[in-house]
Amino acid sequence: MKQDKWYVGIDLGGTAIKLAIVNSNGEIAYKESQPTQVAEGGDRILHQMDEMIIRGIEDLALKKEDLQGIGIGAPAFLDLERGYVYEAVNLGWKDYPLKDRLEEITGLPVVVDNDANTAALGEMWKGAGSGASDLLVITLGTGVGGGVISKGKIFHGSRGTSGEIGHVTVVTKGGYRCNCGKQGCLETLASATGIVKLATDALKEGTSSTLAETLKANGALEAKDVAFAADAGDELALSVLDQVGFYLGWTLGNYAVLLNPEKIVVGGGVSRAGEVLFKPIRDYYRQYALPHLTGDIEIVAATLGNDAGVIGSAWLVHSKE
Ligand SMILES: [Zn+2]
Repeated sequence: MKQDKWYVGIDLGGTAIKLAIVNSNGEIAYKESQPTQVAEGGDRILHQMDEMIIRGIEDLALKKEDLQGIGIGAPAFLDLERGYVYEAVNLGWKDYPLKDRLEEITGLPVVVDNDANTAALGEMWKGAGSGASDLLVITLGTGVGGGVISKGKIFHGSRGTSGEIGHVTVVTKGGYRCNCGKQGCLETLASATGIVKLATDALKEGTSSTLAETLKANGALEAKDVAFAADAGDELALSVLDQVGFYLGWTLGNYAVLLNPEKIVVGGGVSRAGEVLFKPIRDYYRQYALPHLTGDIEIVAATLGNDAGVIGSAWLVHSKE
């Protein structure tokens, strides 16, 4: 074990802290997940991370000195250079010096980035984007996140906020209200929440569907119910995923024209719907992309699942060497 270099990758969320100790090939040697103790406030979350690191090095028979540093992906509005959190609503942090405090507590160097970006880096290092250095990664979960990778590095923009593909406006009139305050953002349609809303609204219009029975039986719909019904040929479900595929294909086509990535990687829980979603995405994408200029850009499913964040966070430290 001692001959390798080791990196700590943390995927910090409002519900769970996921931590991994990763070797220089991006392979996970130790992994742990703990509920985030948000309610206790202050530095509690950082002490939780330190406790997890100590358990990890004990398990691997390493010492803290064997660790090169800690990378963290956080759902936060950040000053990247200073690793300073302006605001992270889900973590209860405002004006919080995350990097400085965690370095004091753990004695290890810390690198911080946004969680959608670390997930994108993970897919580049060990996942569906492996081997490519210009990538567009989109994550379809409860919300919609994105990361733009150029020459192996995240493209951050002037204030570090680039890649917020979920808040691209796709419905200009009468769109659903988004958490960001706008209306008609991609996230309002292509997230798990958006898919459920589209299906529920279609049911209200009286379209017949097996989803009506699912709704009756369970009291609520989930995005995976829609995917399941679409797989079984349910027309309402297929039309919902066709709409979602349209908005995604259109947006990704426009982004491909602008960014010319090598590949587009689609991840997150919603992407598990598989071909019923990827087929319409690819079909509509082809209408709006510009292959004679950009080349044939593949749209592929992410392969790392929940590990993308911890692996990409470890990459933050690895890539600084
Ligand atoms: Zn929005």
